[in-house]
Amino acid sequence: MTPNDFTTDDDLRDYRACRLCPRRCGVDRTAGGIGVCGESAELRIAHACPHFGEEPPISGTRGSGTVFFCGCSCGCFFCQNAQISRQHAGTARTPAEFERLCRDLLGRGVHNLNFVTPDHYWPHLRAVCRRLRAAGHTEPFVFNSSGYELAERVAGYAEVMDVFLPDFKFADPELAARCLNAPDYPATALAAVRAMVAAVGFLAPWDETGAEMARRGVLVRHLVLPGQVENSLAVLRLLHREFGPELPLAVMSQYRPMPACAGRPPFDRAVRAAEYAAVCDLAEDLGFHRVFLQQLDDDEAFLPDFTRPGEPFAGNLRASPNP
Ligand code: SF4
Ligand code: SF4
Repeated sequence: MTPNDFTTDDDLRDYRACRLCPRRCGVDRTAGGIGVCGESAELRIAHACPHFGEEPPISGTRGSGTVFFCGCSCGCFFCQNAQISRQHAGTARTPAEFERLCRDLLGRGVHNLNFVTPDHYWPHLRAVCRRLRAAGHTEPFVFNSSGYELAERVAGYAEVMDVFLPDFKFADPELAARCLNAPDYPATALAAVRAMVAAVGFLAPWDETGAEMARRGVLVRHLVLPGQVENSLAVLRLLHREFGPELPLAVMSQYRPMPACAGRPPFDRAVRAAEYAAVCDLAEDLGFHRVFLQQLDDDEAFLPDFTRPGEPFAGNLRASPNP
């Protein structure tokens, strides 16, 4: 980050001896140091667009103003966004350019601003969101994240963020160790989601059709992985035990094997219909009733291509009150 156009020490401090996420790398990103997320303190953005593939109360009819940051502190080997999270395709932006991107999206009438994998760029994001609020923008700000966040940072996030869309990928520490070298993922994500729910509650207002847009709250997403049904069932049981059946959920079938999955069965195939059905069945049995599902035949529609002009995604989530 060049401390040119914003510039409180506060904005910079968190990048020095960086401990912004549970990796706690301790590198000085302002001096070009690179931690697990793969990004220095230079703000790098892969794409910004109105996105129509989020859940209906997030995308609505005019789209969610989505900003995709480069890098990710998780580094899942199967990452569906590998072009930007692991290969770091994107463009360096000054804070002023980032703010302009956000203003341009808002000017296009999007329902909200949606920041994807934002935790490692939190100082930039906090500063720009504060400036947008000070300028009178009232649209919800969405923190769209991996779930692998520090619970103690959530209250700070919630000072400027309205909606949280955390993933909850793993209940199985061994699987989390295998996929992203983070056996602490389940405990860390649970503490983070707990803190998010405490800060902003469940997603509200709840209108699965998208006629009324979400203004505040938490929606948890779970991506079903091939050959990992037991992990998915354990995730649902854990979420049910902790938050009860009112918790808004998105259960996603969109996994597609990426080149890095070659030779790593069962990650080298798509999710089978029976696997996805088993997870949806348990969601129903547990009484979750605010649930978004996907159709397996949506196929490649959800696989982003950040080289495609315009929207990198083509798919859309479908609401199902009765999974
Ligand atoms: S944000 Fe990046 S550098 Fe900082 S602790 Fe997390 S992975 Fe490490
Ligand atoms: S958390 Fe999401 S974006 Fe990050 S590496 Fe894993 S799958 Fe990719």
